[in-house]
Amino acid sequence: MNVITNHMPTDELQRLDAAHHMHPFTDGADLAKTGARVITGADGVTLTDSNGHKILDAMSGLWCVNIGYGRRELAEAASRQMMELPYYNTFFQTTHVPAIALASKLAELAPRDLNHVFYAGGGSEANDTNIRLVRHYWMQKGQPERNIIISRKNAYHGSTLGGGSLGGMSGMQTQGVPVIPGIHHIDQPDWWSEGGDMSPHDFGLERARQLEKAIEELGAHRVAAFIAEPVQGAGGVIVPPDSYWPEIQRICDEHGILLIADEVICGFGRTGHWFGSQHYDIRPHIMTIAKGLSSGYAPIGGSLVCDEVAEVVNGAGDFNHGYTYSGHPVACAVALENLRILEEEKIIDRVAAETAPYLAEKWQGLTDHPLVGEAKIVGMMGSIALTPHKDSRAAFAAEAGTVGLHCRTRCFANGLVMRHVGDRMIIAPPLVITKDEIDTLIERAVTSLDETYDLIR
Ligand code: PLP
Repeated sequence: MNVITNHMPTDELQRLDAAHHMHPFTDGADLAKTGARVITGADGVTLTDSNGHKILDAMSGLWCVNIGYGRRELAEAASRQMMELPYYNTFFQTTHVPAIALASKLAELAPRDLNHVFYAGGGSEANDTNIRLVRHYWMQKGQPERNIIISRKNAYHGSTLGGGSLGGMSGMQTQGVPVIPGIHHIDQPDWWSEGGDMSPHDFGLERARQLEKAIEELGAHRVAAFIAEPVQGAGGVIVPPDSYWPEIQRICDEHGILLIADEVICGFGRTGHWFGSQHYDIRPHIMTIAKGLSSGYAPIGGSLVCDEVAEVVNGAGDFNHGYTYSGHPVACAVALENLRILEEEKIIDRVAAETAPYLAEKWQGLTDHPLVGEAKIVGMMGSIALTPHKDSRAAFAAEAGTVGLHCRTRCFANGLVMRHVGDRMIIAPPLVITKDEIDTLIERAVTSLDETYDLIR
């Protein structure tokens, strides 16, 4: 067999990659021309690529490496579990210790009575589970016509057919989704782009009340659930106005519909709380979890379910749903070790008390830059809106995303992973980032913004 290693020349790795590897969310033709960036190692908050460049990863991989790279304890937990029991399923009245231990730990950490977990391989699968769970629940309650799930435009809930249908991103909506009937989208609470002349407060209320309007138009007896990320992540770290979530909670309560908080990004410390729902004082019936659950060291996700929904579903015979890797023992063992580290090392407490306020101050300072309109940040997730004219919140004359892409390219060249969503630049660094590393992040961001500004002037 041809052995392919880190020591091969970069261009040869890129050639093989382009020839045989189809990448997610990537233009394959572009990739064949430029070659992928080959990452060969990582430690703490820093990546190394195949040319030996060191890059500060201000995106935690894909919003997931909350405890940072290179923690031996997680590798050891995986190795121990692989030796003891590498796999067994959790179907047909079977279980194992890692699945039990993680479920118990999650019940302890989760807010309110979210005491039950249905495991999945990641966030998309968990959201597919949620579609089935809520429809099955209402069916068992004798209300089968309650099967519509309301979601939001520009939301991201995954890439399976279910997750993609729940999500509201235009780029995905034209490529084979939505395919699931009974999903309705309302507008997002993005004041910068869509708020017009309204104050953020009034705009937040207006966007929340779209939920009430949709419920009235569709018929309250037909609406099963509302799903939303506490802070939209992939949509561009859209931090909702303060008026938004209390109004959403009121509407869900008054109309008796289930609230699903998609915590795939916000969960496990990202907002400075264990869950984004705690940051916004939301009381969800179901929470989608993944990513930070294992800090990305093993693929695992799940649905955390409240007592009422779990009792109805558990009391209704077989729930004909599950994945081969639901509650995979190695992934559960790794997640458990990750939660132990988050808790024992008080990582989330430190984010809330020290590093998030420090980052927030520096991040807000970026609005002094001529290209930056607004800067938003919650805990360890932030965004800046690039604009040619701050007061009018105007978009650039160039096609949306062109300036953002320039900026992202300059960031890479300057040793920083900062992602662009259109012309918003976003960060979500590992929760273990230090104040010195935050200084480096900001310095490299400013250099990249300066270079982008020079390029478009
Ligand atoms: N939900 C949210 C809020 C996400 O951000 C993501 C992924 O980015 C998903 C669901 C899908 O998770 P996965 O990629 O693990 O399937």
